[in-house]
Amino acid sequence: MLDYQAPNDLLKDKVILVTGAGDGIGRSAALSYAAHGATVILLGRTTKKLEHVYDEIEERGYPQAAIVPLNLDSAAEHDYIEIANTIESEFGRIDGILHNASILGDRTGLANYEPSTFEQVMRVNVSSQFLLTQSLMPLLLEAPEGSIVFTTSSVGRKARAYWGAYAISKFATEAMMQLLADELENTSNIRVNAINPGATRTNMRARAYPAENPASVAAPDDLMPLYLYLMGNDSTEVNGQSIDAQPKRQASK
Ligand code: NDP
Repeated sequence: MLDYQAPNDLLKDKVILVTGAGDGIGRSAALSYAAHGATVILLGRTTKKLEHVYDEIEERGYPQAAIVPLNLDSAAEHDYIEIANTIESEFGRIDGILHNASILGDRTGLANYEPSTFEQVMRVNVSSQFLLTQSLMPLLLEAPEGSIVFTTSSVGRKARAYWGAYAISKFATEAMMQLLADELENTSNIRVNAINPGATRTNMRARAYPAENPASVAAPDDLMPLYLYLMGNDSTEVNGQSIDAQPKRQASK
C-alpha cells in the first residue's frame, strides 16, 4: 500500500466524478474523496446504491454530493453531453474523474466467448470512458489542476487465459490513459494515470474467485491512499503512470 497521509482538506473545493460509485472500490473512493473536502458526483446504474452513498456523505457532514444515474451499457453520446451540460450549470467546474465502473463479463476461452457479452464489456469498460472523458474535456481543461484516473488490472498488462473481454478492455484502458496523458502533457493542466487495485474484497472479486476467503484480500478502504494521492494536488507532476495499489501482492487480476 502507498504510504501517503492525505491532508484533511486535500480535495477542498474540488468537484470530482466517480463512476460506479454505489458499490465496491467506487463507493469507498466517493466517501474518501468527500471526507477530504470534495463535492462528489456519484455516477452509477443502481440509483438505490447511489442514494445510500449520498446519505452516508450527508450524515457524516461532508460536502453535499450529487447523483447521476446512468447505465453505461445503454447510454448514448447525447446522455454524456447532457451530463457535461448539467455539471457545468450546477457546479461550473470539474476537477477530476475516477473511471472505476467495470463489468467482468464471462470467464471463458475466446473460442466460446459470447459475442454479445464481448460487445457489452467493451461498451461498459471502454467506450463509456471515452465518451465521458470527451464530453467533460472542455470543462476539465478549465480546472487549475485536473486529474483523470483510470482503473486497470493485472490482466490489462499481461493477459491470461479465460479472462476474455475483461482483459482486452483493460489493455484498451491502459492505452486510453497513455494516449490522453501524452496528448495533454504539454498543452493542459490535466494529468492522466491509472490504478491497478489488486485483489480487493468486492462483489466483482467474489464473482471472479468464488472459492476465495474474502477476508484474505484487502478491503477497498485499504487502497484509498493511492486514490487520494492521484486525485489531489500532491501528484500534479505524475502523468502517464499505471500504478499498483498493492505492489507487494502477487498479481492475480
Ligand atoms: P464492483 O463490481 O464491486 O463494482 C463495480 C461498480 O461499477 C458498481 O458500482 C456497479 O454498479 C458499477 N457498474 C457496473 N456496470 C455498470 C453500468 N453498466 N453502468 C453504470 N455502472 C456500472 O467492482 P470493484 O469495485 O471490484 O471494481 C472497481 C474497479 O476495479 C473495476 O474497474 C475493476 O475492473 C477494477 N479491479 C478490481 C479488482 C478487485 O479485486 N476487486 C482487481 C483489479 C481491478 P452496480 O453496483 O449498480 O452494479
